[in-house]
Amino acid sequence: MRILISNDDGYLAPGLIALADALAPIADITVVAPDSNRSGSSNSLTLDRPLSVFQASNGFYFINGTPSDCVHIALTGIMSEPPDLVVSGINQGQNMGEDTLYSGTVAAATEGFLFGLPSIAFSQVEKGWPELASAARVAREIVERRLDSFPDHFLLNVNIPNLPYAQLKPPVATRLGKRHKSEAVIRAQDPQGREIYWIGPCGGQKDAGEGTDFHATALGHVSITPLQIDLTHNAQLAALKKALA
Ligand code: MN
Repeated sequence: MRILISNDDGYLAPGLIALADALAPIADITVVAPDSNRSGSSNSLTLDRPLSVFQASNGFYFINGTPSDCVHIALTGIMSEPPDLVVSGINQGQNMGEDTLYSGTVAAATEGFLFGLPSIAFSQVEKGWPELASAARVAREIVERRLDSFPDHFLLNVNIPNLPYAQLKPPVATRLGKRHKSEAVIRAQDPQGREIYWIGPCGGQKDAGEGTDFHATALGHVSITPLQIDLTHNAQLAALKKALA
């Protein structure tokens, strides 16, 4: 099995190294990741400048671009044959609810999915890398697992509680929860007295009920959400057709 691995925390991130170490014994891996932390870059592609591919001493490729750039270039410019699977992560911090829209971790997997490949994004719920070995073991188990009667082409979003392996509860299928709107922007002044802004934290949990990623991980389960990319609001499509008639 050939696996392409990427992330959004950059090629030096402990989560990427742990994921590569976990998958190397079971697959032929290629790692292509951003040269720096690109968390929050969503599905952006760099179109206003050329990109360069570098290779680190451990064999990882790194690119001065976004997670989507990395997977795009890996699939179209680096790998001679397409991989069997694209994985992203392990991200430092959760990607649940609307996080998935902003996430570069999910975006890297999405890019693989858009190229017709099964893809999985992995994130740890809490930041700081506690219990990373446990998360890497879970990631390997999910990659190894054969899901009978599941489609060949999928985009899975996995969130792993930061617990010792023995305390983790089994993976459960979830839907995305919902967050409240984001916190306000943080205003400050630069050394020249000019006003500057920092994007504030994401909103708290609004829909964290049973069946959601928030709910499952709060109980200690590994959460797996199947994602789709079609944003069409089908109920409103019918209503709009009626309104325009
Ligand atoms: Mn990240």
